Amino acid sequence: MKLDLVIKDCTLPGLNGRYDVGVREGVIQEIGRELSGEVEYRADGRLLVPGMGDMHVHLDSALTLGKPRFNQSGTLLEGIEIWGEYKRTMTKEDVKRRAIRAVEWMLVQGVTMIRTHADVTDHSLTGLRALLELKEELKGFVDLQVTAFPQDGILTDKVNVELLEKAVEMGADNVGMIPHNEMTREDGVRSISIAFELAQKYDRGVDGHVDETDDPNSRFLEVVAAETIRRRMTGKVSAGHVTAMHSYNGAYADKLIRLLRRAGVNVVVNPAVNLHLQGRYDTYPKRRGLARVRELLAAGVNVALGNDCVMDPWYPLGRGDILQSLFLAMHGAHLTSYQDVVGALGLVTYNAAKVFGLKKYGIEKGNPADLVLFDARHPLEVVRDQPTRMLVVKGGKVVARGEPERYELLAPERKEISFSPSFP
Ligand SMILES: [Zn+2]
Repeated sequence: MKLDLVIKDCTLPGLNGRYDVGVREGVIQEIGRELSGEVEYRADGRLLVPGMGDMHVHLDSALTLGKPRFNQSGTLLEGIEIWGEYKRTMTKEDVKRRAIRAVEWMLVQGVTMIRTHADVTDHSLTGLRALLELKEELKGFVDLQVTAFPQDGILTDKVNVELLEKAVEMGADNVGMIPHNEMTREDGVRSISIAFELAQKYDRGVDGHVDETDDPNSRFLEVVAAETIRRRMTGKVSAGHVTAMHSYNGAYADKLIRLLRRAGVNVVVNPAVNLHLQGRYDTYPKRRGLARVRELLAAGVNVALGNDCVMDPWYPLGRGDILQSLFLAMHGAHLTSYQDVVGALGLVTYNAAKVFGLKKYGIEKGNPADLVLFDARHPLEVVRDQPTRMLVVKGGKVVARGEPERYELLAPERKEISFSPSFP
């Protein structure tokens, strides 16, 4: 059988030796040796992994940094205020232009699955319209899921419930929530029920912003887990941020983590943004404000990552590289044993695919050919160095390529410098 594309001589995660990966009609057809195809690419032993995923990003606010002003306090709440001013003025074209640029950055860096939030407390639903259009326009190049995100709360304004339902009717993939931003604890709990109710009514997933605060009394995640169990929605529910978990006492955190495991709720952590936003009300010591990733993983909870923001009112930095988030998560959560380091790519590949709800994922015969080739030969090199993405393949098509970084030392001795040591 003639293959369309063969990536020759790859290192594959978890396998010894080198393999050729052959693709036909968008699907991985063969993994073997001496394969030949219409187009061939020599990997020369470089590491090939399945397309990566960013499971929490706000594309509607991407690249609005400084407009109309910069966030001086570095808090979530000042960010929400600034965004509130910006969103009154934005147009669909403006959102699309910025979002496309952010998606391009993500795609060339190997992200082929993106779950974005669209603020649906803007009465015109401009951001949602823009991102739903983008989802269609980018089909085949990147998989986009859009979560209807009630940024200002579901019960803080009586039109917000209607806007949320309208967003779902318009085609949002997931129903969002932000219980810690509702006026009272009771409203927070009720807002969670409303989100689940809508998700069940329209057969969608639930993807909440939950407990994004350093307040240890913010305990909405347990309510999300309980709703998931009672409504039998295991696997369809994700909770983003969950930073209050950092500040819970050990006994409560243990109870909660067991409950999450039972409920099968995915946890999505956004290390760059939450290391930046959290701890802002602390004197020293300042809390890191990250969910307990190590403990969650050890308990068998699915944890994936998101960039959350790319240069917006909440975060001044970012270039859409999910490997930057992985690098920070590993530091923030002490995921730095040798096993942790070599297994870390799982958070942005297989764990992300689980959040995304993909049934067929990974470098196996019969799976979609969504692939990333790194300029690295070992998983440790990938997370340490965040190397060039040499090739990004989506649905069997090469959609991006990169050139390896090159440095030359000129003195005292002229030579090319590589950052790749040899490993044991
Ligand atoms: Zn977010």
